[in-house]
Amino acid sequence: MATGKINVSVENIFPLIKKFLYSDHEIFLRELISNATDATLKLRHLTSIGEAKIEYGDPQIEVKVDKENKKLHVLDQGIGMTSTEVKKYINEVAFSGAEEFLDKYKDSGKDAGIIGHFGLGFYSAFMVADKVEIITKSYKDEPAAHWSCDGSPEFTLKKGNKESHGTEIILHIAEDSTEFLEESRIRELLRKYNKFMPIPIKFGTRTETLPKPEGAKEEDPAPTQEVDDIINNPNPAWTKKPASLKEEDYKGFYRELYPMQFEEPLFHIHLNVDYPFNLTGILYFPKLTTDLNIQKDRIQLYQNQVFVTDNVEGIVPEFLTMLRGVIDSPDIPLNVSRSYLQADGAVKKISSYITRKVADKLSSIFKKDREDFEKKWNDIKIVIEYGMLSEEKFFEKADKFALYPTVDGNYFTFEELQEKIKDLQTDKDDKLVVLYASDKEAQHSYIEAAKAKGYEVLLMDSPIVSHLMQKLETSKEKLSFARVDADNLDNLIKKEDTQISKLSDEEKEKLKGNLEEVIDDKSYTVQLEAMDSDAAPFMITEPEFMRRMKE
Ligand code: ADP
Ligand code: MG
Repeated sequence: MATGKINVSVENIFPLIKKFLYSDHEIFLRELISNATDATLKLRHLTSIGEAKIEYGDPQIEVKVDKENKKLHVLDQGIGMTSTEVKKYINEVAFSGAEEFLDKYKDSGKDAGIIGHFGLGFYSAFMVADKVEIITKSYKDEPAAHWSCDGSPEFTLKKGNKESHGTEIILHIAEDSTEFLEESRIRELLRKYNKFMPIPIKFGTRTETLPKPEGAKEEDPAPTQEVDDIINNPNPAWTKKPASLKEEDYKGFYRELYPMQFEEPLFHIHLNVDYPFNLTGILYFPKLTTDLNIQKDRIQLYQNQVFVTDNVEGIVPEFLTMLRGVIDSPDIPLNVSRSYLQADGAVKKISSYITRKVADKLSSIFKKDREDFEKKWNDIKIVIEYGMLSEEKFFEKADKFALYPTVDGNYFTFEELQEKIKDLQTDKDDKLVVLYASDKEAQHSYIEAAKAKGYEVLLMDSPIVSHLMQKLETSKEKLSFARVDADNLDNLIKKEDTQISKLSDEEKEKLKGNLEEVIDDKSYTVQLEAMDSDAAPFMITEPEFMRRMKE
């Protein structure tokens, strides 16, 4: 048996990269800015451990469009490369320098936040450019290098002209990609992928209005000045310690994340874990009821502050995809299919961690401020009820804080409800009979009749309520639900007979017969028991199973 190593040569991989590396050509900019960020973070790390004996300073990344010459520039002030390093890192496709760096500085570099993974990022530039140049100077005392390549396997490498450390990448934008010479398109991309990257990114300048000098007249225009337009917030809230943030900061970050969202979130959950996987983030419970942006404003997934996607299906349990916010984890595998994701061990752990955190947060609000929790219940119940149906672990926790409102506006947990009704509302087999109404107006007289007998009536009007009742009936022993207008209420619930009706049994029977004739539908039953409570002269009922079948 022979073993060997497949050599991936530039010659055969090049056209593949151009076509298939990423279906989305626009991500080239994300890749180049990730590299610029990595180069800067590496320098920060090397200066912090004393290996690079230069001042770290206040480095920036800059993106410049030169429409006239059809060029796009990405500049950084990071570690740069010597010409030996250019040969090694750039010419050897699929050789990831980021991985090598992490390997070499395994212990000290772990938390440096380096982004690169795949060793193909740089070459994504050829998806939109027919020629790429690199002018780079290492932080080490060596001459600058100038690499250029027109997309064929041949490249040139010569001495470069650059005084300060760092790298400039120049893309000669191809004829079919001129959209990337439009300032508005680049700004859109920067906003989408780089809004929260850790190094300031400059894109042009903007005019800032200064305060008027003292003594200025009303009609005098306020003075202005041109300042760098920094498009990102390098320190977004989720990267900070929860203890250092106030309620206002979380609300502010929500607006930063969803600028078109005017409704305030109901509450937030700050995620922060580094073992057995690394994950940070902030999730928000939005007010869902009147929201039209429900589809658009979704949870965003980041890796080391680089936007990856807002399709978190498979990573976040489905019932939580209604939430909003940010999840940042280097441990979620990218560029893989969703079905693979769902089978991935790390992703499974992440998903159950998130479920647990959400349940814990809800439980703590419930315990700390019951009144507030009750106020929010209507807005959050969909998520919670859906979660109870779909995740057993969530059901176990939520069972302690899920609320069941009565028609009179009281809120009970299941346990409280049970305590409240167990004496009056049990059937012959000591099964608890929970009464509910689905429509307060339409079922008014049934509700009143039930209340008159001392029963509690829940108001169950959410869209998935019949599934939830079924779930409760199967997971709790000795429990059944019955709608207030169900036909069998009175034989269901055992009770002492109290007769206050003015009609005799005989008269009742006759009246019942007459009424049934008029109704002429065998699936309904006429009941005259309501007379006993003075709530209504009679009731028309339909079997519970029939009604559920129709739903
Ligand atoms: P990865 O980022 O996954 O390592 P890339 O193809 O994006 O792969 O980049 C290959 C390597 O080229 C990087 O690891 C790095 O060593 C080097 N490199 C790319 N861009 C820069 C840059 N702006 N400054 C310094 N080195 C860079
Ligand atoms: Mg990269």
